[in-house]
Amino acid sequence: MTRAERAAFVDRRLAELYPATPIPLDHRDAYTLLVAVLLSAQSTDKGVNKVTPSMFALADTPEKMMRVLVADIQAIIRPCGLSPAKARNISALSRILVEQHGGQVPQTFEELEALPGVGHKTASVVMSQAFGVPAFPVDTHIHRLAQRWKLTSGRSVEQTEADLKKLFPRAHWNRLHLRIIFYGREHCTARGCDGTVCEICRTLFPERKRAVTTKK
Ligand code: SF4
Repeated sequence: MTRAERAAFVDRRLAELYPATPIPLDHRDAYTLLVAVLLSAQSTDKGVNKVTPSMFALADTPEKMMRVLVADIQAIIRPCGLSPAKARNISALSRILVEQHGGQVPQTFEELEALPGVGHKTASVVMSQAFGVPAFPVDTHIHRLAQRWKLTSGRSVEQTEADLKKLFPRAHWNRLHLRIIFYGREHCTARGCDGTVCEICRTLFPERKRAVTTKK
């Protein structure tokens, strides 16, 4: 199979396996999604979904959040880890949204990435999941599976994103990135897997199976 054929199979099969693509982080709007994505660094989505109800009960708009003490934000988000930096960033970005963006989350990568604590991946999630703009946020699951499925030859997240964007139709990016994450969470948790365990790897690389079988 060529790389393009592997990509077409992955795209088709994941759409069959995960027809629905619910956004894993609970949120009410673009602002609460931005805060939730920021909290998800070094944390699980489940862990974030446990703290956001209290967080958004305290403040669910930039105007309200900028008035909350950083120490109070930190106390609520502590279970998500990195709480001092995350609390500072949430407070600071809320103030910037009010003072520079009329209290709204901006809808460009440049403006989003200029906010404290917001990198390209966070901006991509917000552009994609809040505003429906085609983007391809690459998390650890996507980075690993793109390598396992030989859809990228790059070692960096940036290269993986560029390769995946070239391989898949732009109209599929937003749902496909979620589907790859769902598959990775469900199947690709084994460290040091030899790439012969799951259906997609077995289909893409039947020779891997043969190599292992011959060895035995
Ligand atoms: S076989 Fe499954 S667990 Fe192993 S690399 Fe492939 S997707 Fe991941």
